Order: sequence, then C-alpha cells, then structure tokens
Amino acid sequence: MPELPEVETVCRQLEPEIEGRRIEGLEVLDERWTRPVPAAEVERALAGRTIEGLGRRGKYLLLTLEGGRTLVMHLRMTGNLVLVEGEDRLDPSQGMRLYEGERSTSERHLRARFALDDGRQLWFTDPRRFGEAFLLEDGDLGARFAKLGVEPLSAEFTPEALGEAAAGRTAPLKSFLLDQAHVAGVGNIYADEALFRARLHPLSPAGSMKPEHHLALRDAVVEALEAGLEHGGASIDDYRDGRGEKGEMQDEFLVHTREGEPCPSCGGPIARIVVSGRSTYFCPSCQVRLRRRPRRRKR
Ligand SMILES: [Zn+2]
Repeated sequence: MPELPEVETVCRQLEPEIEGRRIEGLEVLDERWTRPVPAAEVERALAGRTIEGLGRRGKYLLLTLEGGRTLVMHLRMTGNLVLVEGEDRLDPSQGMRLYEGERSTSERHLRARFALDDGRQLWFTDPRRFGEAFLLEDGDLGARFAKLGVEPLSAEFTPEALGEAAAGRTAPLKSFLLDQAHVAGVGNIYADEALFRARLHPLSPAGSMKPEHHLALRDAVVEALEAGLEHGGASIDDYRDGRGEKGEMQDEFLVHTREGEPCPSCGGPIARIVVSGRSTYFCPSCQVRLRRRPRRRKR
C-alpha cells in the first residue's frame, strides 16, 4: 500500500510534467472511483481545465485546477497514477513501461484516464479498486483535512508536537503511528522502519515515551521516510511510480518483511508479530519495550 514516500515520489515526478497542461477530457471507466458523485459530473467539471499543480497531504494526491477546485485522489491499496504517451503512440518498448510493459494488464485495471493537451495521458490504474477521487472547492480543503495529523516532513513535526499527540495514549506505538490523525502519511512499512531506527518496541504504549524518545522517534520517522524517498518508494506489490516503474526501497528495508533475517544492528533474528491487524517486524533485542504507565492527558 502506498505511503508518504510513494505518493510524494509520484508527485515530484509528475508535477513538472503536467503543471500548466490543459485537461482535454477525463474518462472515468469505473463509476466506483468517484462514488457517491456520478462520474459524469466529475468528468464535466474537469474537462477543459488547466492543471495548476500536483501536491500531497498525508497519502492524498491533490490535483489543483484552474478555477479554484482540486481533485483529491487516494491510491488506497493498489492504485497508481502514471503518465503515459498518447494512445496512438502507445508502445511498451518506447518508454511506456507500465507494469514492465504489460499494457494489457494496466488496461484491464484502468479506472480513469485524463487526456492532456500535449497528447499524453494520465492513467489511474487500480487492480483492487479501493482507490478513490473526489472534487473539492479549494476553500473546503482545510476542513476536509482538519483531522489529519502533522506532516512529518514539515517544520511542525517537532519532538514536542509528537509528545503532545502521544500524551496519555495507551495504544501501542505501532498503532499510534498508523493512525493518520497523529502523523499523516506513515503506514505499515515506514512505521516498522521508524520504530527500529528509534530502538522502540512496537508494543510500547505511545504515552509512555519520555522526551528523549520523542526526539528519537521524530528523527527516526523523518529518516525512514527520507530513505523511502531516496529509493523511489517501495514496490512490494502493485506500487509503480509516476513513470510506471518500480521503486527500490523494498531492497533497503532494515526490518520490514525481514522475519528471521539478521538484525542490521545486533545480528539477532528479526521477529514478526501482528499489531492492529498488521504484520509488524522488529528486533526483540534492540527495540526497548517501555512499560511505564502513561501519564494523564493534559488536555
Ligand atoms: Zn537487533
């Protein structure tokens, strides 16, 4: 499932390519993509609009349009947003490397396509069809994302902010990090990688962290996400970047999916447990389980 580094990789690749381009037309091939809004309504709203930018909030992609509206897209489990050459020039051997050139596979999973005025197309493909899109007036963006937590790559993500979000919480650190209301954009991969880097056991109650742990975890989250960005995101399953290519972060994981393999720090075996229904990988020797009872929330 794409997390912050994967979504941000797509943004950074595609924004310079599509900024200023006019959407000649949007074709939604799967009504579920825009549900409950009728696809035709979204198609009409986007046709003829110029793209002002492609941004990100948490794991959401924000396609900003001229005229004060934004198409918000979420990739969910298996969605991909990929720029391809125009239909008439579509050639898997000539730069169109969707799913290693398997055009038929991508076409089968195509849920929406934007025709751009330079002849290229933006495809939203999604085998499992959990991805979604909805249109917002720019004035409503703040309210829509009010419940999303701090952006971990922003200056607001301080050890103090992390401590405040965690204060009084009995939830395990792994669940705390997965909750988008605290830190936006972190999912299963980068939560495991960050907790290993911070040397904190995933089952430690979030509220049991001391200030030195807040600092360690803040730094660890940032480092884990930046490693993901540096390697173009992780392609464990379906994720492909904005050019249809796999990321390489899956080869760089310190602990995630590494059950039984030696810990990069102590050499002991990496363990796997299930937390919040998600496979969680960690080093039982290196990662300290905090047990102190959480103090009461101040607010
Ligand atoms: Zn270890």
